[in-house]
Amino acid sequence: KTPNEFCLKECISTLLNMVKNQYESENIKIEFISNDVVITNYENELKQAILNILNNAKDALLSKKSILTKDENSNFNACINISLIQENKKVRIEILNNGGNIKNDIMDRIFEPYFTTKFEHQGTGIGLYMTKSIIETNMKGKIEVENIKDGVKFIITLNI
Ligand code: ADP
Ligand code: MG
Repeated sequence: KTPNEFCLKECISTLLNMVKNQYESENIKIEFISNDVVITNYENELKQAILNILNNAKDALLSKKSILTKDENSNFNACINISLIQENKKVRIEILNNGGNIKNDIMDRIFEPYFTTKFEHQGTGIGLYMTKSIIETNMKGKIEVENIKDGVKFIITLNI
């Protein structure tokens, strides 16, 4: 299997078009800001890696919404923000959601295989493990996570 040249903006737009209806029906807004950036890598694997992050963002947002009152819910803007930032020979894909923080004591475990906090929803704990393998082993990139004001940010860095 060989990498191919593709436009990252197009790749992510295609993925977002696939999931948009489902997310919108759950009242989750997806925003995507990007310039045209062409990279050479594994396009379909990247889609799968990002999809896992989006699904986790959706889970976090839905679980946050489920504990809000009706009033609080109408004031809460469940949102996933994706942006592409190009810097020299690298591109950064930042994926943010406002579904609450990841507790500090599990932060360095979330990429472990079978690590899940979704017991009542039968989480597999495979998503982020798969995402990290794709990004770092197959694609020679890097994935990082950090807590932001009211949620989390995943940062994927790839060579152009
Ligand atoms: P699963 O989704 O099956 O639990 P993952 O590997 O996809 O497994 O994620 C591992 C764990 O990381 C989740 O159970 C959750 O605790 C945490 N996590 C991942 N993404 C987020 C997020 N966007 N917000 C809050 N917690 C998250
Ligand atoms: Mg998951």
